Amino acid sequence: MAVMGRISMKAREEAARKIVERPQDFKICEGCESIVVASVDLCPNCHAYCFNLSQDDVIKHAEILGAREQQSVTSEDLL
Ligand SMILES: [Zn+2]
Repeated sequence: MAVMGRISMKAREEAARKIVERPQDFKICEGCESIVVASVDLCPNCHAYCFNLSQDDVIKHAEILGAREQQSVTSEDLL
């Protein structure tokens, strides 16, 4: 999903916050580890049908996604 790279840090943080506030509305794809809405039967990214429904894991995952962009700075520092 090339579009994901164009999402601003702020938008990413807001999405992560929304997921943390309502973890029961989301689940994690076991195939590609995307957070998807709980109502889908197939992952929209990789079409897997196994999901992790743990709300604790959904929250943890959302926090990682919200922070991921900061890590990309490190690779630029190496150039
Ligand atoms: Zn998937």
